[in-house]
Amino acid sequence: MGKKVYLQTFGCQMNVYDSERLQGLLRSFGHGITRNAKDADIIVLNTCSVREKAERRALGRLSDLYRYKQKNPHVMLVVTGCMAQRMGKELLEVMPYLDLVLGPDQIFQLPTYLQNNKECPQVAVCSSREDFDSQKIWQQEILPERKTPFTSFVAISRGCDNFCSYCVVPYVRGPERHRPTHQIIREIQLLAESGCKEVTLIGQNVNSYKFKGKDFADLLQMASDQTNIDWIRFMTSYPKDLSEKLIDKIATLPKVCEHIHLPLQSGSDRVLKEMNRGYTSQDYLKLVERIKERIEDVSLSTDIIVGFPTETKQDFEKTLDMVRKVEFDSAFMFRYSEREGTKAASFVDDVPEEEKLGRLHILIKLQKEISKKKNLRLLGKTFQVLVDGKSRKDKDKWKGKTKSNKTVIVEGNGSEDVLGKIVFVKINEADSFTLFGTLQEQVLMKKSVNRNYDF
Ligand code: SAM
Ligand code: SF4
Repeated sequence: MGKKVYLQTFGCQMNVYDSERLQGLLRSFGHGITRNAKDADIIVLNTCSVREKAERRALGRLSDLYRYKQKNPHVMLVVTGCMAQRMGKELLEVMPYLDLVLGPDQIFQLPTYLQNNKECPQVAVCSSREDFDSQKIWQQEILPERKTPFTSFVAISRGCDNFCSYCVVPYVRGPERHRPTHQIIREIQLLAESGCKEVTLIGQNVNSYKFKGKDFADLLQMASDQTNIDWIRFMTSYPKDLSEKLIDKIATLPKVCEHIHLPLQSGSDRVLKEMNRGYTSQDYLKLVERIKERIEDVSLSTDIIVGFPTETKQDFEKTLDMVRKVEFDSAFMFRYSEREGTKAASFVDDVPEEEKLGRLHILIKLQKEISKKKNLRLLGKTFQVLVDGKSRKDKDKWKGKTKSNKTVIVEGNGSEDVLGKIVFVKINEADSFTLFGTLQEQVLMKKSVNRNYDF
């Protein structure tokens, strides 16, 4: 009989996608999804391990949710994802009441385990990793169940081979495996047929994609030519794998959005080397120069870690210097968090917490100023915007994103229903995080054609 499942997700876009696909799969098995944990027969937490804080939050939430199981012992408590993989049996020592612990490669086995309750193990995590081809879920045409029907993630790879010294991902998500091209194209087309306008191709390192002689640039070309999707985004790009061929595709394919998420991590060459990133600050700057020359109106976002072991004030100054030089449109900025089992965990974590926090505040303040300065340059310009909902603060206004990934609040004329449409919006106000504009009535667009519009 169908069960009611409550599913909560922590962490990155890959976890969000896994959860959305799991929801689709659970429904295909006759189960329902509930937004209230108190109504659920099965409670699933899809967890993250990238920073200690993410694990602490998930553990806290699990202890909180345990009360539903105490009230009703038939409620199943399931932990999936990276923390499940990292801690495995250790999780049961802390929380013996858990019913099931599934690693990221076992998550889609949940409906089968629910069917065969007796054969259900308490912990299923992986030491060897399965390919896309050997997992049935990837051959099934199960679409991710998203919050908005107009946008969707599509996984193109899983795992990572880069082994940045601070990062737990290669250990918990395993080696990089690439999804067959035909599966990706089919999923994008099915999404387009279901009303989705934009896909974001995701992988820990999307631009190292390879499958039977096709690389990531080829995949973008195929997704552009062979599907009816309007816009194609992608993340995350790794600097050392961003080829000229790929820059050229982003510059010339009208469906491909002109936004690159390009983690810098640090501006100090010494720290970058300790991080095992495989590029120097000069390499990064040259790459940014080529991107800016070649891709009109490109926007760049990044990830930066402060307080990596041995990071001095001078190293941190170099990071600030890079941030000023590149002028990122936005950034995710983090305090270093030691992760057991990584190479950096053997380094002395010698930057005091309050110093890490202080550096983080300085960096965030600088980035906020730069984001605002860059957004103010867009005043008076007109951009295409994919409208995906109503503004949270003002229900009379719409919200959406530009191709360059900027959030826009759109003032309409009151009567126009633009939800799920790509429209033209003229920007009249901006702050660090948001653009504000008015709908340009002359051009309500169905398909994207060009990039620049001078009205
Ligand atoms: N694969 C992507 C890349 O290389 O950019 C991102 C993966 S990771 C989930 C997202 C970001 O988390 C990283 O870019 C890094 O800035 C940050 N991160 C990873 N490990 C971290 C750690 N131990 N402490 C603090 N931040 C960390
Ligand atoms: Fe982690 Fe580096 Fe892989 Fe990104 S590229 S997931 S930061 S090891």
